[in-house]
Amino acid sequence: MINNMKLKLSNTLSRNKEEFKPIRKEEIGMYCCGPTVYNYAHIGNLRAYIFEDILRRTLEFNRFKVKHIINITDVGHLTSDADSGEDKMVKAIRREGLDFTEESMLKLAKKYTLKFKENFKDLNILEPNIWCKATEHIPEMIKLVEKILENGFAYETSTAIYFDISKFKDYGKLAKLNIEQLEAGARIEPDPEKHNPLDFALWFKAAGKHQNHVMQWDSPWGKGFPGWHIECSAMSMKHLGEQFDIHCGGIDHIPVHHTNEIAQAEAAIGKKWVNYWLHNDFLVMKEGKMAKSKGEFLTLQVLKDKGYNPLSYRYFCLGAHYKTQLTFSFEALDGAESALKRLKENVVSFKENNDSVSNKKIEEEYKKRFLEAINNDLNTPLALAVVWEVVKDKEIGNNEKLKLLCDFDKVLGLGIKTFEKEKVVVSGIIDELLKKRDDARKNKDWSKADKIRDEIKEKGFAIKDTPEGPVLEKI
Ligand code: AMP
Ligand code: ZN
Repeated sequence: MINNMKLKLSNTLSRNKEEFKPIRKEEIGMYCCGPTVYNYAHIGNLRAYIFEDILRRTLEFNRFKVKHIINITDVGHLTSDADSGEDKMVKAIRREGLDFTEESMLKLAKKYTLKFKENFKDLNILEPNIWCKATEHIPEMIKLVEKILENGFAYETSTAIYFDISKFKDYGKLAKLNIEQLEAGARIEPDPEKHNPLDFALWFKAAGKHQNHVMQWDSPWGKGFPGWHIECSAMSMKHLGEQFDIHCGGIDHIPVHHTNEIAQAEAAIGKKWVNYWLHNDFLVMKEGKMAKSKGEFLTLQVLKDKGYNPLSYRYFCLGAHYKTQLTFSFEALDGAESALKRLKENVVSFKENNDSVSNKKIEEEYKKRFLEAINNDLNTPLALAVVWEVVKDKEIGNNEKLKLLCDFDKVLGLGIKTFEKEKVVVSGIIDELLKKRDDARKNKDWSKADKIRDEIKEKGFAIKDTPEGPVLEKI
């Protein structure tokens, strides 16, 4: 592969498209905030993981080795992203009518984690090298909180250990919001013991409203449980080292979660933590935001139940740049589904008629343009346009087209290599008609065989007679 096209990525920290320069050439560290497993992921959430998958595949296409981590939040994420409300997991226990026990919590987490991983398979998203669960990293989180306290960036109250944002010079640098703006959003349910409404909990004590929290661990501050933000800082540093390359998530994480992650991590290590912060914009419905809290959200399962191929949703997402807001509609998904189907039909026909006409100049030009597109901040709409130009090219052979498309698919992940003619599952009646036609042919009763062929056609299937026997194709 040509590697003279530099990879450029939009870094939220600088608000610029920057050339990607890894900390260590041998391996890139990439951390993606994962799901809070209190409910199914909605298709908006899945847009985030598709974007991150494209990023990882693009890094690998550029021959970087990637260590990719996704966390599973199974404790500590309150119903607001800040410190108010109750733990989302606790809320889900109530919603599902389970007992308020640790067992229920684990059961719930397991159920939604499995479903989440199924979504990954359906969408052909590569599994991370490590899935890490918050509840399995409590000692690392406690250690990090101790370090932050020791460095003078936190204080203890009767209910929590709070991060003191006034001690951290660049608080809010990621969101580029001024403190007044941030404060305005943090005034709901203020804790009178907080020095500043923006101070956030590193650790909640099992006290006050959290006295009966279902999951509690021993800590130097008595029994309690971690805040949501601390888990990502602790787990990423455990698996990727103190400083690493890339941290991702949706844009909603910029003002609170990632802002707080940076503050606490840099307060602990005393230097810059992550070099590149990448954020995808939202998937919205025509009517506005999808809200899990109100129960109004679309899952991949709903799309599957309606008969859509999950990869059509992936194709739909690739049709927009990750940094633009994308509006979901079933009409738009239909468009993606028929485009993917056409791509499949073309690929299948290239496989069936695998002629070879090589033209290195044209092939190299396609490779260059594809790489330029994805290396320019993951421009997937342009990369798809190159795919279609290859499909329609009249100068190169099908064999060459297949090679190019399979190469591009290392990034796109549409499963091009595995495309094959759809097996037609026929109902009892068609099966019977096929048998009758077969008998008629054996008896050389051609007019009867033709009549049956027409009957089958009326039912929506064409018969192709091949040396291996008749094959049905959907009309
Ligand atoms: P959550 O499970 O809510 O923590 O979200 C998982 C991921 O999905 C995070 O990276 C969020 O920023 C992202 N996300 C949440 N809602 C949307 C949406 N509607 N569109 C795109 N990404 C989203
Ligand atoms: Zn996170």
